Amino acid sequence: MPVPSAPMKATCKSCGWSQVVPQQGDVIFTPKTCKRCGSEQLALEKAGVLDALNPISFILDILKKR
Ligand SMILES: [Zn+2]
Repeated sequence: MPVPSAPMKATCKSCGWSQVVPQQGDVIFTPKTCKRCGSEQLALEKAGVLDALNPISFILDILKKR
């Protein structure tokens, strides 16, 4: 599945920390752990207007690749 070059947003479910990561090309680059508390409970989503469309399936897709 092609990955659009849209910025990704990682949000920590434990402490609320979040980071927007610009994407370049088709390489997914997102933090795997929270930079603040070290939790791996990060919610990954596209940082943009498409956020609300289908974030859950996208998150599950990311988790499968870990
Ligand atoms: Zn955290």
